[in-house]
Amino acid sequence: MLKISLVVPCFNESEVIEAFHAELIDVLEPMGADFEICYVDDGSIDDTLVRLKSLAATDPRTRYTSFSRNFGKESAMLAGLRMSQADAVILMDADLQHPPKLIPQMLELHRHGYDQVVAQRDRTGEGMLRTALSQAYYRLVRRFMDVEVVDGAGDFRLLSRRAVNALLALPESNRFSKGLFSWIGFDTVSFTYENVQRAAGQSKWGGRRLLNYGIDGLLSFNSRPLRMAIHGGLWLFLSALAYALWIVANVIVDGVDTPGYATLVAVIVGMSGVQIATLGIIGEYVGRIYHESKQRPHYVVRETNEAELPLSVPMV
Ligand code: UDP
Ligand code: MG
Repeated sequence: MLKISLVVPCFNESEVIEAFHAELIDVLEPMGADFEICYVDDGSIDDTLVRLKSLAATDPRTRYTSFSRNFGKESAMLAGLRMSQADAVILMDADLQHPPKLIPQMLELHRHGYDQVVAQRDRTGEGMLRTALSQAYYRLVRRFMDVEVVDGAGDFRLLSRRAVNALLALPESNRFSKGLFSWIGFDTVSFTYENVQRAAGQSKWGGRRLLNYGIDGLLSFNSRPLRMAIHGGLWLFLSALAYALWIVANVIVDGVDTPGYATLVAVIVGMSGVQIATLGIIGEYVGRIYHESKQRPHYVVRETNEAELPLSVPMV
């Protein structure tokens, strides 16, 4: 029988963590599965960690690592993947929005030879505005990104050991998992399930956080925005050239003429806008290079029940 690791990032989930754990056990035990649960407390300020510790005290299959502050879900997932030891690893949220009852189906597909099994949610019960915005975003991403990212295919997925190893081998500090999952390749299959609302507590994704996440996604996977800036600049240059030639021709035919301030101002303002936007794009990439070049660890561990710290660098 295959061993399974469940990787669960938790940030302020004290209201639901015990219910989640109970439901997970209720699914896994009847299957006769050999499993471990790797919880990562992402610097919660409620008593998530206390509850994780008491779960670990009563259940030896429970492992946990707690961060010194909130480092974000991407870092928490990375720590969990580093903790996992099994041949099949399942990433899931702690708020029961990723229903544990789908696990048998995921394992079944994995047995058919798939390295990545994605449980893709539909958008039942979600606000209309958020649905519309996400769909527009994914259309944009599909156009501008080199890797494929699918709407609703979140982080609820099973990964084979070799897929996990491939992910862990990627060194970047700016991690955008949706892109990384697609970048590593391997045979991937997905199925859709009906979206469920979180059992208790609050979503940590407000509008601003989502927008920044979206920008990260677009920029962290390719340099196409830079290419677009070059194309835009070239087109503008060519139109300016054509316009200048037209003026010269006009002067030759009609003699010298003074008006044209309005055109001049419009052109200057338009060009400045393009230049500033382009600088902004370049700035984003430079910022990313700066960030990567510091080579900081993705997180700092406060405490853990692991024998070895799940770290790439020693704890300070
Ligand atoms: N999460 C985390 N760190 C964060 C934000 C979220 O570990 O900074 C965890 C959270 O505890 C949950 C999962 O990531 O298990 C998904 O978060 P949430 O339910 O808030 O996102 P949503 O489902 O609304 O997209
Ligand atoms: Mg959620």
